[in-house]
Amino acid sequence: MPRAENSPLTRFGVPLVLAVAAVAVGYQLSVGLDGYFVFLGITAIVAGIALLGLGVVSGSAGMISLCQLTFAAVGAWVVSYLNKIEAPGGLLLWLLCGGLAAGVAGILVGLPALRLRGINLAVVTLGLAAAADLTLIQIQFPGTVDGISIERPEMFSTDREYFWLASIVLTVCCLAVYFVRRSRWGSGWQAVAFSERGTAAAGASVRTSKLTAFAVSAALGGVAGGLLAGQVSQVYPPSFSAMQSLALYVLAIMSGAHLIDMAIFGAILWVAVPELLKRWGVPQDWGFVIFGLLGTHALTTGGNLGTAVRELWRRRAKSARGTAGIELTAPPDESIELPPLGEPVLVVRDLSVSFGEVKALSGVDLEVPANGVLGVIGPNGAGKSTLVDIISGFLPQATGTVELDGGTLNGLSPTRRARAGLRRTFQQDRVPAGLSVGAYVRFVARRRLGAAEIDDALSFFGCPPARTPLRRVDVGARRLVEIVGHLLARPKVLLLDEPAAGLPHEEHVALGLRLRQVPARFGVSVLLIEHDLDLVRSVCDRITVLDFGQVLASGPQAEVLANPEVLKAYMGETEML
Ligand code: ADP
Ligand code: MG
Repeated sequence: MPRAENSPLTRFGVPLVLAVAAVAVGYQLSVGLDGYFVFLGITAIVAGIALLGLGVVSGSAGMISLCQLTFAAVGAWVVSYLNKIEAPGGLLLWLLCGGLAAGVAGILVGLPALRLRGINLAVVTLGLAAAADLTLIQIQFPGTVDGISIERPEMFSTDREYFWLASIVLTVCCLAVYFVRRSRWGSGWQAVAFSERGTAAAGASVRTSKLTAFAVSAALGGVAGGLLAGQVSQVYPPSFSAMQSLALYVLAIMSGAHLIDMAIFGAILWVAVPELLKRWGVPQDWGFVIFGLLGTHALTTGGNLGTAVRELWRRRAKSARGTAGIELTAPPDESIELPPLGEPVLVVRDLSVSFGEVKALSGVDLEVPANGVLGVIGPNGAGKSTLVDIISGFLPQATGTVELDGGTLNGLSPTRRARAGLRRTFQQDRVPAGLSVGAYVRFVARRRLGAAEIDDALSFFGCPPARTPLRRVDVGARRLVEIVGHLLARPKVLLLDEPAAGLPHEEHVALGLRLRQVPARFGVSVLLIEHDLDLVRSVCDRITVLDFGQVLASGPQAEVLANPEVLKAYMGETEML
């Protein structure tokens, strides 16, 4: 059943139909539910919007934020203030203002997240939540002292009507999250959660990805807080305590709130658990304990309800489906004409770097000719990956010069080097499993791509089709998808760090035949790091040999491979020759 990855019907039609259905269900519930449940329902919707936000920052972008209700307080504060001064526009416009203000607060909180990770980020955000808590008790929300109630829009003044309004706001938020997650921002969040180095190598800014995640997440928190203000009509600080923020985070983790349906399910738990405890006569604080235990389980096992349910569903639907690999058996079309080598496009001079006592690289020179593939070989630990790291800007402490097409790259960050046309792949897997093959390729390529162009490049390398989720693609094929993405970025030079490492040996040469055609097909010159000499022989015009961090030999393939020094360096690994 071929399904086009980009059919507008699947891209816009399905979510819009679901949204209309959700609004209709919201209306039915608003007239059908018992009055008490209508109020609980509004509480659940408020929690749902806050959880959606947490899903963005923690689930998608992989960061910890323990102050989501502080952002909600910002939203509630803005709405209370605008209500107090009787600002024009009414609650819906104020909600928007509250969301924007919280978004700005999110960027400010996100700034430390650029440097902090894990437990440190947790401490900072929880500390902020506690500080905000105390401050709110001091200053109170605008209008509460004078007993001013928040004015709801005329059409939605009763609780039933307000429930419907809230369900519309929730639906709009869900749609927004759905589409933003499919945009460049969303791909950036997934990428940064999986590997910051991989994100930078794709020419994307790690900083922007983290800050947009915090901003969107906080803005949703702000909308939730504003909606709560309209629900309770006078806002008090205990609704936004640090403890509640912590519990909400735990709920987001255990339910898997990066999935929209799971955020809503989490919201239902948020009201249902305390409600059930109340009915059973158990003190409601036990709710925190229950959430805490489930959250601990989710954090220690790395699993969550949403993912578990989806796995079950998938296994049922397609029990026989395994992982997708590559298909490289057929040789590539040999008729393509290989252009003659040009002037050097990448010139590297006198590169050196030490790690403590270890001189990993000293005085390395090399040149990648235009239209060519330069092979860099050498025994394990020779410094090949270190060389790629230096050229691509990941080791700023290194000395020496790197010139691309006549311009110096010295002093530029990895992101800037990638944008300047110098791309690299990694020896380890840096491909985020949360995206589809097509979404990842688009993210890495950083330019508008037609579906045909993507399909073409993928099939040239025998990769699975664009719509395949990367989590179903085996590691060898994932690394070829990475290459396709970088090639479609049309850089001047692509550095490949042992691209065949994840593939079965019989596919190494098949890959080599394709790499040989890369300059002609994609207009990209290649520096190929490789351990497998068969592959190098089948691809490289020129070879540079590294040994103990120094250039041992450099020149045309036949000459270098006949060099007795090179043979000696490889003696320990004679089976390679
Ligand atoms: P290759 O890719 O050729 O197998 P590497 O470039 O990975 O070799 O490593 C070259 C040398 O530098 C090795 O001795 C390795 O242990 C050392 N090295 C690499 N990265 C680091 C690092 N971050 N810290 C300390 N030593 C390192
Ligand atoms: Mg290496």
